[in-house]
Amino acid sequence: MTVRRAAELLGAARNGLALTGAGVSAESGIPTFRGEGGLWKRFDPVKVASIDYFLADPSAYWSASKERGRVALGASPNPGHAALAELETAGRLAAIVTQNTDGLHQDSGSRRVIELHGSGRTVQCLDCGFREPRSEVQARLEVEMPPRCRSCGGTLLKPTVVLFGEAMPQAAVQEALALARAADVMLVVGTSLVVYPAAEIPLVAARSGARMIVVNAEPTPFDDLAEVVIHGRSGEVLPEIARLIVDG
Ligand code: NAD
Ligand code: ZN
Repeated sequence: MTVRRAAELLGAARNGLALTGAGVSAESGIPTFRGEGGLWKRFDPVKVASIDYFLADPSAYWSASKERGRVALGASPNPGHAALAELETAGRLAAIVTQNTDGLHQDSGSRRVIELHGSGRTVQCLDCGFREPRSEVQARLEVEMPPRCRSCGGTLLKPTVVLFGEAMPQAAVQEALALARAADVMLVVGTSLVVYPAAEIPLVAARSGARMIVVNAEPTPFDDLAEVVIHGRSGEVLPEIARLIVDG
């Protein structure tokens, strides 16, 4: 049985690493980009999630971001997040590298979380650098569009996420690559593995000798590289794996 095989591999890990994507938060009610119910079927990503679009028209950006922000801020971790936190506590995962910006891994108790695409919980003014919690800006969106910087009054308030056309946070990328090189087991969950350099992480881990487990609702381009592939929901599969490891 594949869940049992995944538990065997991960249960023996001394330097396990997880890479997570939007799929792990789908069961928390946050829509993924691609795949079933994916946002990109409704919006053109390069338009609404690019730095050029943001700079050209912050109001349009925030109008599109308003609904997503409300959903993400109201979301709670699901059993998949909890299982990953448990695996870290049990010493089977050294860290989680995530493409998510929702902060749910941290809410669930995971300690070492590397955010490749930044965090949506904070907003920063591109003019003066002033930072505020997204929750405070979110509350203002009803009466102020685009939201204004509380420090300089400017209108270039941007969530601290990596938009298309922006550079990746180099320290996070380097840390993730170093973890991938050192990993003995690579657990890939809820990501379509089409966004680089995030998709590079499992490739580097595999090249360095890590054994790979993929848990995803649908096939991914890396299934052939994995020793165990489980097509299912992370909120159901990960707790089963964790239970087998932690309870024996
Ligand atoms: P993606 O949307 O491209 O792919 C999500 C994958 O998860 C799909 O292959 C889908 O089949 C799978 N999936 C859906 N529900 C699942 C479930 N319950 N269990 C397991 N798998 C499930 O996501 P991505 O690869 O992370 O790339 C999207 C980009 O968008 C990322 O860069 C990320 O920064 C951003 N994003 C973040 C969030 C978030 O923070 N929660 C949400 C949407 C998009
Ligand atoms: Zn400012």
